[in-house]
Amino acid sequence: MANINDNYLKLKAGYLFPEIARRVNVFAEQHAKAPSNPPIIRLGIGDVTEPLPAACRAAMTKAVEDLGRHESFHGYGPEQGYGWLREKIALHDFQARGCDIDASEIFVSDGSKCDSGNILDIFGCDNVIAVTDPVYPVYVDTNVMAGHTGQANDRGEYDGLVYLPISAQNNFIAQIPNRKVDLIYLCFPNNPTGATASREQLQAWVNYALSHEAIIFFDAAYEGFISDPDLPHSIYEIDGARNCAIEFRSFSKNAGFTGTRCALTVVPKSLKARAKDGSLVELWPLWNRRQATKFNGVSYIVQRGAEAVYSPEGQQQVKGLIDFYRENAQIIVQKLTAAGLTVYGGVNAPYVWLKTPNNLSSWDFFDWLLQECHVVGTPGSGFGAAGEGYFRLSAFNSRHHVEEAMQRMVAKL
Ligand SMILES: *Cc1c(COP(=O)(O)O)cnc(C)c1O
Repeated sequence: MANINDNYLKLKAGYLFPEIARRVNVFAEQHAKAPSNPPIIRLGIGDVTEPLPAACRAAMTKAVEDLGRHESFHGYGPEQGYGWLREKIALHDFQARGCDIDASEIFVSDGSKCDSGNILDIFGCDNVIAVTDPVYPVYVDTNVMAGHTGQANDRGEYDGLVYLPISAQNNFIAQIPNRKVDLIYLCFPNNPTGATASREQLQAWVNYALSHEAIIFFDAAYEGFISDPDLPHSIYEIDGARNCAIEFRSFSKNAGFTGTRCALTVVPKSLKARAKDGSLVELWPLWNRRQATKFNGVSYIVQRGAEAVYSPEGQQQVKGLIDFYRENAQIIVQKLTAAGLTVYGGVNAPYVWLKTPNNLSSWDFFDWLLQECHVVGTPGSGFGAAGEGYFRLSAFNSRHHVEEAMQRMVAKL
């Protein structure tokens, strides 16, 4: 009899989004018979709603035609991504902001969700792993699957992980651990809280990582939403980060590529970690080998679409998209603040993180919002035990839906 990876059995059954879908379906069925009920508005899952930028669509259409002619046909591309895309990423996203990152250090991929899980392939099993609480669940679950944890307790906390609580008390910036950890996941602007980190705060993390030989996994998927000119966009804007950080970026949230799929991971050539025999080993060749063996690159068509993000029209169109979602977030912040709620985020991020009113639990507020307003959000406790009593609303929706959802909430709050 074949056997399974038992670590999968440790995963908590009631995973957040399936449970939300279940409750919404039950509600929708009950209410389908009353046609006067307003439609459900979904401000839950963080998926974009607006069409792809015209510059990206034009580039992809042309790329399809390229594949229709012998002279411009492309089969397998480089596993690391085409040079023309990696050069533009290095120049616009990193060098233009003073980051010492070369095109050869950029690995184009089909998603930073995938990469943030896959990166564990090149790390050992004995690392002490730190995550914030609340956190993007992928960081936790991929470590569970890889066998890096024990069982979960009834609060959903896995034995063996170091949880760094974030809340209004610490402005949603985790305190530097007072013990040694080896791998640290940081996400700024943050999903789910919408919080950002200053240069000084990131410098403190880099200093910690350098002095403890730790590696920071820096998820910058929402970097495009930063509007404050003083905030760093990349961890490599911080002195020393080339020696302790891997950065994940994505075209999903800035250019609306959630369904198109393109992202990138930066592994600096100066980055090292220890082998079992104590020797220092460069991580770049390991990730390069991992990708070349287990990944065959992103399609030519999609990489041409991503390249168009860096054209003048593409840059303008992406800015238009981000401004649109940021305005949605501002509407949510303003309406709910005026209605007396305490809200966080929503300024440099597409997420608004609110304190539930009357000390309701996250799931009780979810049910209230669904029943009373026909609006779906995400319970904070689904992102970790310390998210209890908080709730996430996403700005990824049409203006009409956001305004309508706010009207309904304000009327009932
Ligand atoms: C949406 C999101 C991503 C992007 O994932 P892709 O696989 O590139 O679509 C990465 N990290 C976080 C925290 C996200 O919310």
